[in-house]
Formats: sequence, C-alpha cells, structure tokens
Amino acid sequence: MAEPLLKVRDLSLTYWRRTGLFGRGSQAIQALNDVSFELNAGETLGIVGESGCGKSTLARCLLRLLRPSNGSIQFDGVDLLALNADDMRQMRQRMQIVLQNPFASLNPRLKGFDLIAEPLRTHAAMTRETMKDRVAALLTEVGLSLDFMNRHPHQLSGGQAQRIALARALALNPAFVILDEPTSALDVSVQAQIINLLIRLQRQRRLTYLFITHDLSVIQHISDRIAVMYLGKIVEETSSEEVFAHPQHPYTQALLSSTPAPDPKSDRQRIILAGTVPSALNPPPGCSFHPRCPQVMDRCRTLRPELRWTSADHRVSCHLFDALE
Ligand code: ADP
Ligand code: MG
Repeated sequence: MAEPLLKVRDLSLTYWRRTGLFGRGSQAIQALNDVSFELNAGETLGIVGESGCGKSTLARCLLRLLRPSNGSIQFDGVDLLALNADDMRQMRQRMQIVLQNPFASLNPRLKGFDLIAEPLRTHAAMTRETMKDRVAALLTEVGLSLDFMNRHPHQLSGGQAQRIALARALALNPAFVILDEPTSALDVSVQAQIINLLIRLQRQRRLTYLFITHDLSVIQHISDRIAVMYLGKIVEETSSEEVFAHPQHPYTQALLSSTPAPDPKSDRQRIILAGTVPSALNPPPGCSFHPRCPQVMDRCRTLRPELRWTSADHRVSCHLFDALE
C-alpha cells in the first residue's frame, strides 16, 4: 500500500472569544477536537456535518491559514506544521481550496483571463504567450469557451463563476484540492454539473479531494470515504457505500433520513432530531450528541465515547457499540 497523501492526527483548535464590557474575559470555543484521518492520493474524503461543526476550521488548519492548538498534519510525507513560511508558501501551490461563494472569492474588477492567470504570475515565470495558452487550456478543461477570458465576475452565472474559481485553483497543477461547500450556493441542476466536472477533473488529473458539505446526498457519488462531524469531532468514518448501507451512529442515521431516498417507495423513516446543534461554547458532557440522540442511554450523559473501529473499515464513536470491544 502506498502512503496516504494526507495524514491528520489529533487536530484540535480552540478559538477564544472576548467577553465582558472591556473584553477582559474570554470564552473558549472548541471548534476541532482530536480530529484524525488519512486520505489516499487520487481519492475523495467527504466531510459532512451541520453548520458550525468545524468543517471550515478544519480546511483552514490543513492549509495552515489557522494554527491548530494541538495535533499534526503530514502532507506527502512532510510535517506541515514544522515548515517555515517560505516552504509553506511553496507547499500551498500543491494544496488549493474552492469556496462556497465564487463571487466572494473572485476579484470583481478582474476579467476571466487575469483571474486564472494571477496564480501563474506570482508563482511561475512564463511569457505572455505561454500564459495565454495555459489559461485557454484551463478554460477548456472546466468546460468554458475562450470568450470567458474577457468576462468580469458580474457577467457570470453561479455555475460559470464556480468553473472560473476551479480553473484558477488548478492553474498551478495542485495535487490536493479542498472543496468547501462548492455547490451549496448553486441551483440543484447546476450542482450536478459541477459535481460531474469535479469527478472528470479528478480522473484526468488524479486529484485528491477533501469535499466538505452539510448535505450528505451531495457527496454520495463523489466520495470514496465519508467522515461525519459533530461539534468538532469525527463521530463516524467509513466507505461511502457503507455510510449509506449501514450507518452506525444515530447522528449519521438522522442525517441520512433527512436526505431524499433514491427509491421513493423505500421505507426509510425520517428521524427528527430533537433540539438544535448545541454550541461549541458549551458542549454537553458525556457524548456531545446525547441531548438530541433518539437512542440515548444513561452512560451517554456522563461518559465520552471513544472513536473506535467496529470493523477493519468502519470507525464510530457511540456507546451503542461498547459491547463490541
Ligand atoms: P462549519 O464550517 O462546519 O460551519 P466553522 O469551522 O466555520 O464550522 O465553525 C466552527 C465553530 O467555530 C462555530 O461554533 C463557529 O461559531 C466558531 N468559529 C468559527 N470561526 C471563528 C472565529 N474566527 N472566531 C471565533 N469563533 C469562530
Ligand atoms: Mg463552513
């Protein structure tokens, strides 16, 4: 077996929010709590969880835009947290991110050509001609005609803008792309087109994806593996097929029951979760999911479950599986 491209160990991050009239007090928000996973080259790991569970914080830590309070990140055998600023800048060419709202990430004053050429200008020395060829090739790759070189972001639809953002992210031939809710702002029909484009680009370029979403149904077909997050923790992780066929965590089961079933005649029951997502400011004791869990037991209220393997391929953090130890 080849080494995973990305190895994340025990990643934790706490934000401090100032409180009080003069900002003298502070409150801890534990946004990431001992997150560990591996990702093989050429594969997609889907990260799913409700808003506020720490997905974007994880993305920002992986790119070292935020410094985790604890843990390690190995990318292609390199310890990212140990790199100096120059080496990290070099490394970032191989790691790119595409965000939910392309209009917020694309400079409105620039035209398509400059939006895509910008990373080439800062990182690679090339003639104007070569650059033009590169931009043209990237536009074709993302399914846009060469006219888009001359368009400003306000002249683009959401789907077209996301294609430009993708072309820009691919300009320096990265190995790894983080997709942070890349289709959440798009119409459903456009979402499918972008997912298909991402799948094709992955095959052609052998890209590795971390695909972040709050919507499990979006990542079913693109993910090899799926990790479910709840309040800063991974609560379940396994292959994509297994998540949909045999979800183990009650939270995963609830998420799944709220996505449309592929077969409308299926007897999948909709599980309504009680309460709202608790705040990372004040996480509940024991299992942080217990206040909303339909299968809550006494020990869940006090004892924190560990994330452990229930089979060679499946990890879950839930006291329902304690007996398997
Ligand atoms: P997600 O992307 O899953 O919606 P985030 O990673 O954005 O979640 O946020 C995780 C938690 O951290 C939330 O409780 C959020 O309010 C908090 N948070 C995010 N960014 C900051 C920040 N810069 N300062 C303080 N708290 C933050
Ligand atoms: Mg987010």
